[in-house]
Amino acid sequence: MNFTQPRLPYTPDALAPAISQMTVDYHWGRHEKAYIETLNRLLPDSPYADDSIEDIIRKAEPGPLLNNAAQAWNHIFYFFQFSPAGRREPHGALHRQIVDDFGSFEDFKKEAEKAGATLFGSGWVWLSADTEGHLFLTQGQNADNPMRHGLKPILTIDVWEHAYYLDYQNMRADYLRSFWGIVDWEIIEQRYEA
Ligand code: MN
Repeated sequence: MNFTQPRLPYTPDALAPAISQMTVDYHWGRHEKAYIETLNRLLPDSPYADDSIEDIIRKAEPGPLLNNAAQAWNHIFYFFQFSPAGRREPHGALHRQIVDDFGSFEDFKKEAEKAGATLFGSGWVWLSADTEGHLFLTQGQNADNPMRHGLKPILTIDVWEHAYYLDYQNMRADYLRSFWGIVDWEIIEQRYEA
């Protein structure tokens, strides 16, 4: 299998000022491109050459192949949850579940920002669902992914420094606050209900 990088469904300046065009150009245009190229280089000599990227993430041993497969997938999941003119709060079943599990949407956002601020080093904050629809907010180091832990991811926050340093320098909390202004909750609901 050879993986290709999809085209973003918005222009590189569309997420500014929350995420600048320069950050999109480097983060999507260079970092993500490199993860996909490295994955494609490592795959033919691995036992996973015919697997889907999700199966590789679930099954692969820790190491460079897993790291690059997970980073390739995680960034597509991250960038495709944004839109410049999306709905900025959850409705319906997902909203009800957020209220059940976190108290309110505002409480959920506070918890997620706290998880992002307290993740030491590089990693991802994830909102995921179990098979019964219950929601979980987790921190994952480096290239971790909830699919390795039996959960279905529905939203993610990249807290590697390359995600925010050009725009916010060391102010990770400012990046986390701005993040909510570009998430499209219609997309998150579709993932939750899929
Ligand atoms: Mn990243």
